Amino acid sequence: MSKVLHSQCTIGIIGGMSWESTQTYYQLINQGVKRELGGLHSADILLHSLDFAQVADLQAEDDWPAMAALLIDSGLRLKAAGAQGILIATNTMHKVADEVQAATRLPLIHIADATAAAIKAAGLSKIALLGTNFTMTQDFYRQRLVEAGLTVMVPEESERNEVHRIIYKELCQGQFTEKSRQRYIEIIAQLAEQGAEGVILGCTEIGLLIKQADSPIPVFDTTQIHAEAAVEFLLRANNQSL
Ligand code: GLU
Repeated sequence: MSKVLHSQCTIGIIGGMSWESTQTYYQLINQGVKRELGGLHSADILLHSLDFAQVADLQAEDDWPAMAALLIDSGLRLKAAGAQGILIATNTMHKVADEVQAATRLPLIHIADATAAAIKAAGLSKIALLGTNFTMTQDFYRQRLVEAGLTVMVPEESERNEVHRIIYKELCQGQFTEKSRQRYIEIIAQLAEQGAEGVILGCTEIGLLIKQADSPIPVFDTTQIHAEAAVEFLLRANNQSL
């Protein structure tokens, strides 16, 4: 078999949550593969992009079984099309990651595990977490970080609600305002004062608003970390198949 035709495996992305960050994933994964393989190389990607309005409505109704069914259907479609690994391109929807992995029986690159590994590699242990209210407060995400040995801090309730509102009302709708950027910066600064050594941008759109230069402490952008883990997956599969 030709090395050229089989130079990497195929990753399936369940995206569109929101598409604002899915386009960043697409760009970062392609840039990473080009960086590693050079020349005209780009990533072997299958993308299924969901209608985020449907997902957000189900989130508001707390109908996680319906969301699991939606993402399982997406994962199975990607598998049928040839995906050899799955990436769920959002933090929040990792609430149903175990169900998607069990149904597809494909490797699933978990965003919280990749993020925990990056934080530990940086030598930090006390970390602030910004994301949707689901991500900031529920065990499906926080517990994975705690199990990795991290101490997790979140903003207080009124600030959590503001962080959550800005994600859905602005960032997922492509609005990036200076007012909201300043509000996020204030919240990060408060968490730093309370002892956070770093901050997880634990929603895939936050990195479109906040950059390292905005923060007094190291930022861990889950979109970048997750995309890099996808690149490693594609190229590790490459090494194994040669
Ligand atoms: N993209 C966001 C996240 O990473 C929020 C959208 C969603 O609820 O999936 O959590």
